[in-house]
Amino acid sequence: MAGRSDGATHLDRTDRRGFYRRAAIASGSIAYEVPHRRRAARVAPSIAVARSGGVRQHLASARHHLSLEPRQAYAGSRIERAAFYRGDDAALAAMTADDRARYYVIAGELAVLKKRGEAFDPLFSPTEAAALGAARDTVFLGLMDEAPRFGAGLDAEAVAPLKARDDLKLIDLRTIAVQAIVAAEHVPPLAEAKSVLGWHARHRFCPNCGAVTALAQGGWRRDCPSCKAEHFPRTDPVVIMLAIAGERCVLGRSPRFPQTMWSCLAGFAEPGESIEEAVRREVHEEVGLTCARVRYFASQPWPFPSSLMIGCHAEALTDKIVIDRSEIEEARWFDRDELKLMLTRKHPHGLTTPPPIAIAHHIIRAFVEHGGDVLA
Ligand SMILES: [Zn+2]
Repeated sequence: MAGRSDGATHLDRTDRRGFYRRAAIASGSIAYEVPHRRRAARVAPSIAVARSGGVRQHLASARHHLSLEPRQAYAGSRIERAAFYRGDDAALAAMTADDRARYYVIAGELAVLKKRGEAFDPLFSPTEAAALGAARDTVFLGLMDEAPRFGAGLDAEAVAPLKARDDLKLIDLRTIAVQAIVAAEHVPPLAEAKSVLGWHARHRFCPNCGAVTALAQGGWRRDCPSCKAEHFPRTDPVVIMLAIAGERCVLGRSPRFPQTMWSCLAGFAEPGESIEEAVRREVHEEVGLTCARVRYFASQPWPFPSSLMIGCHAEALTDKIVIDRSEIEEARWFDRDELKLMLTRKHPHGLTTPPPIAIAHHIIRAFVEHGGDVLA
């Protein structure tokens, strides 16, 4: 019910902004209005995270030194999405013409960056972006520090010629996050751009009637001119969880992991399933354990191509691991002491957990620090 009342509050605010904006435009005083809601988040990010429900508040306060949100990649965006402008062609045109407008450019699956000596800049002016090639789709991402931000999507065919240029670097978003190749504030909007532009690339035809669809609402909808259906960008929920019993928890290894890395179990939530049901089913399918209590921990957008990782802890009632080899190659129990060695890269056999950019790292870390309290 809390979510529902939050939503209602947000709608009220949006309506109010719309009123102010219409009044201002009618009086000719502004081209478009800049909202200020995000400023509070910049001043006190930890409070903003707690309010947003990104981390359960008692855990966030207990381990404030971990500063989870800034270190976890793709989440914690400073972009004000300003969704009330999406349907406003005049405001969108004004923002496109704004001197402060900048573009994040995605070519195929890769981000395009400008080389600046040893550093890399992901922001292109409208002129610079246009010079890279005709964008297949352009999306209004929102406002950052009151400046309009757009995402421009280039076809995969543009990748090879752009890669050949000395003044550019084309790189995937995992590497950008792991190696901190761009300033941290750019990683969430790059993820936003990649996810929504990827959705446009894969949804050119109406699933109802097969007609070619058209981008609408500043890039946050595709409309079918034939059957009039409206299609919205989607994100796919993935549950990622740590099954725990007393001082121990279960980690697994996928064949695609680096040789020494162990992580949480994970899988897509299916239609008709709650998060809790998806957690219990995935744990049972992958390692044969039965779980009871499930507690939400935090979430992370994961733009490969467009998932939302929903992090949970689960109470394991059974002990015997039965591995589904089609999903994972190994799984076993780890106690908190061994996990601590893995997190701190001091394990005698070199075993590791995923890096801090991944939510799995923080789910495991919370168990190391708080033990069974994560299920409280
Ligand atoms: Zn249609």
